[in-house]
Amino acid sequence: MSRFRVCLNLARNNFERMITKSIDNNKIKELSRIIAGCKRVAITCHIAPDGDAIGSSLAMYHLLTDLGKEVHVVTPDMFAQNMYYLPGAKDIVIYSRYPEFAAQLIEEADLIFCLDYNAIKRVDKVGQHIMDSAALKVMIDHHLNPENFPSLVISHPEESSTCILLFKVLCALGFVPLINRTIASCIYTGMMTDTGNFSYNSNKPEIYEVIARLVEAGINKDELYRHIVNTSTISRLRLNGYAVSQKMEVFKSHHAALITLTRDELNEYDYKKGDTESLVNIPLQLEDVTYSVFLREEEHYIKVSTRSKGTFPVNKLCEKFFNGGGHLNAAGGEFEGTMEECIAQFKEAMNYADKLLPLKK
Ligand code: 5GP
Ligand code: MN
Repeated sequence: MSRFRVCLNLARNNFERMITKSIDNNKIKELSRIIAGCKRVAITCHIAPDGDAIGSSLAMYHLLTDLGKEVHVVTPDMFAQNMYYLPGAKDIVIYSRYPEFAAQLIEEADLIFCLDYNAIKRVDKVGQHIMDSAALKVMIDHHLNPENFPSLVISHPEESSTCILLFKVLCALGFVPLINRTIASCIYTGMMTDTGNFSYNSNKPEIYEVIARLVEAGINKDELYRHIVNTSTISRLRLNGYAVSQKMEVFKSHHAALITLTRDELNEYDYKKGDTESLVNIPLQLEDVTYSVFLREEEHYIKVSTRSKGTFPVNKLCEKFFNGGGHLNAAGGEFEGTMEECIAQFKEAMNYADKLLPLKK
């Protein structure tokens, strides 16, 4: 072996040791046993699946399929069209479309993965089937306060995405040689989307070391960005333009911004799932805005989406006022009531939030 190769291997071993340091070795041993013993696997992720939910689910799907398991991904509902760029996305079983088939897959599984969610209510109606199943359950997730219904919980809220956590877990399991271009593309997708293309939660050097490995595995990160993030439709562009020009309110003294869209407005612009994906981030471009709230009227409730800059905890706001939760800078929830009532609730939240704002230097 050439000296260069020896050095390269040493560097790789060091990298793998460094990156897996935070993962509990006993849990990895248990996971290794569980994977070796399973035959039929159902992989589940949260409602309104985002790039991290779909990316981690499909990465696990391809890996376990390559290991010879019978694997299905089950999502509670439809995901954004852009995600169909990922290999395997068309094989995902969507519960809201095929409830009986999806339920059967969960019932027949001997192992259920719970990826990118911390609480059973985040999988909506799929939750009951998971709870009723006798299968082993493994959670791999990065949200705060994980529930303990799975037999094995690998929870790391300090990670920016479930996908990077999954990479670390695969590393610890010794599966790095199995991470081919397909699996790497799925992992990269979640790392990219949960950090706004590495524009928040993205200051750890190891993120870029992982990206280097994924590029080595053959991903085309520029193409992934273009297809997953930067691809739109005319109606989507117009809807977002309308929302910003007509429906955005800035509350300067509260350092807050609000965007609201009703069912009628969404219908007028032929709204499809995912069309308002990054709308809530736009008001954060304003110097005076510390946090941004987007209210979208669904059929039976108002979906609340929040984002913030710096140390402002939008998850606290969502927990207290919108029956939700999430991360410090990205959180969400649901409000049962009319849009007017929800706006009134937002105003109450805004008054409360004044106490959470960082003091001006
Ligand atoms: P988004 O605004 O993209 O829908 O959600 C951002 C983040 O907020 C998600 O990654 C998730 O952590 C959290 N989140 C969104 N909706 C809910 C919800 O209804 N309940 C809880 N607990 N968290 C949510
Ligand atoms: Mn995530």
